[in-house]
Amino acid sequence: MRKPIIVGNWKMNKTPSEALEFMKGIEEVLTGNEAADYGVGAPYVDLDVCVKNAKNLIIAAENCNEKDSGAYTGEVSVPMLKEVGITYCIIGHSERRTYYNETNEACALKAKRLLADNIIPILCIGETEAEYDAGKTADVIKTQLAGSLAGLTAEEVAKMVIAYEPIWAIGTGKSATKEIAEDCCKLVRDTVKALYDGPTGDAVRVQYGGSVKPDNIKEYMACEDIDGALIGGASLKVDSFKEIIDATK
Ligand code: 13P
Repeated sequence: MRKPIIVGNWKMNKTPSEALEFMKGIEEVLTGNEAADYGVGAPYVDLDVCVKNAKNLIIAAENCNEKDSGAYTGEVSVPMLKEVGITYCIIGHSERRTYYNETNEACALKAKRLLADNIIPILCIGETEAEYDAGKTADVIKTQLAGSLAGLTAEEVAKMVIAYEPIWAIGTGKSATKEIAEDCCKLVRDTVKALYDGPTGDAVRVQYGGSVKPDNIKEYMACEDIDGALIGGASLKVDSFKEIIDATK
């Protein structure tokens, strides 16, 4: 049985003091809640304060570099994240693919390096609006998965979380219908089965992301192949993230 996983992605929001404020407000609602794994992805400078104040919440980084150290100004390595206490890391978010040229090849290297230190990658994939309109969604999903999982073993992939996030639904308020979300998350699982084997596809957790809110989270969570959500805007305020947690208890 796959345990659902709900993760907020703060993106480039919250200073450390704002992150601390959030942590103080959110933990009480998680106490004794075993229904799902809950977490937030936070900017690098917030990670330490988040980890130190998290009892039940998973703290994820939003990026990493695949190399361990060296002359890569501005980058943060997996050993650095490990020492801070990070257990999950978002990779391949569409914003990073679009603005910072993060490629499928880079995702595969990052995933491999993270897994070597037992940090679970949350790999994001998803098509643009133009690709969706052109009927290319399935091709995009398959290509991104084949490239981003290259070199990973079945055992490694089984531990991962894959977030299907159609770019046209991110931050637009235009969420995918539950039918589209379920079809695409099922395709993600079936593609993993085709690339690896049935048990690996059955083990990998697949999230939907894109304008998930307190009032639509339940319909996604009711879908067979959707094991949770990656949530941007609605994860920034304690109240709305609490509502999402309450809706999934
Ligand atoms: P929104 O929930 O704000 O649409 O963002 C989704 C997202 O990009 C999560 O990674």
